Amino acid sequence: KANRKFHPNDTIVDVSGVKVGGGNFQVIAGPCSIETKEQITEVANDVKNSGAGLLRGGAFKPRTSPYSFQGLHGDGLKLLLEAKKATGLPVVTEIMDASHLPLFEDVDLIQVGARNMQNFELLKELGKIDKPILLKRGLAATIEEWLMSAEYIMAGGNENVILCERGIRTYETATRNTLDLSAIPVIKKKSHLPVMVDPSHATGIREMVEPLSLAAIAAGADGLMVEVHNNPAKALCDGPQSLTPEQFDSLMNKVNKTRQFF
Ligand code: PEP
Ligand code: MN
Repeated sequence: KANRKFHPNDTIVDVSGVKVGGGNFQVIAGPCSIETKEQITEVANDVKNSGAGLLRGGAFKPRTSPYSFQGLHGDGLKLLLEAKKATGLPVVTEIMDASHLPLFEDVDLIQVGARNMQNFELLKELGKIDKPILLKRGLAATIEEWLMSAEYIMAGGNENVILCERGIRTYETATRNTLDLSAIPVIKKKSHLPVMVDPSHATGIREMVEPLSLAAIAAGADGLMVEVHNNPAKALCDGPQSLTPEQFDSLMNKVNKTRQFF
């Protein structure tokens, strides 16, 4: 179902009225984790004013260490939905377990994180609903494996899948992961699904978010996912890769200029 052979036209995924793919470019922005009402509301207003189409914020966080901040869970989702109401931006947040699905009823785009890309039972459950799914590439997944994970969701009847390249593990340690820009043209050839790029998790380094965002546009990405925090130095998660709202605004100007060439 994900194969372009059987579906020559680009798929356009409609996220509560915000279209992704087939020439519709969107930017998802927001903090790594929802921390407080002030934090998520402030960031939501700022990224909306800069032109983001969707708001992100994690409530269930897949942290490497069990001692790191795990997210506000249901309380975080409530704050995210309040920010959605206040700004009108559709919201994106990660699900870690299918048993949490009832909490995600008002979430517009459900994210499957890199660590769960091959959680097949979760993918099967997400195939049974009709909400759009943002499927991030696994830490060490081949493009074929990634597309097979999309297939798990689509096989159940949910064809609203957006792929997100977020860097893969290589021998290089200068960046958190290695952004695989070549995945974009490869996917475009193999599949009709929209592909977004997350330069924040790909690099882990704030200064590298802009150049790689622009490169992703040149490579044909259908959108970006960028972490933005109102006080990155105090962020509970992923501060070093988070842009300030001012930096995000400047990024959006360059994104819009760059898009005119492609
Ligand atoms: C995230 O987007 O918050 C996240 C944890 O990303 P990834 O699954 O790509 O590491
Ligand atoms: Mn993060």
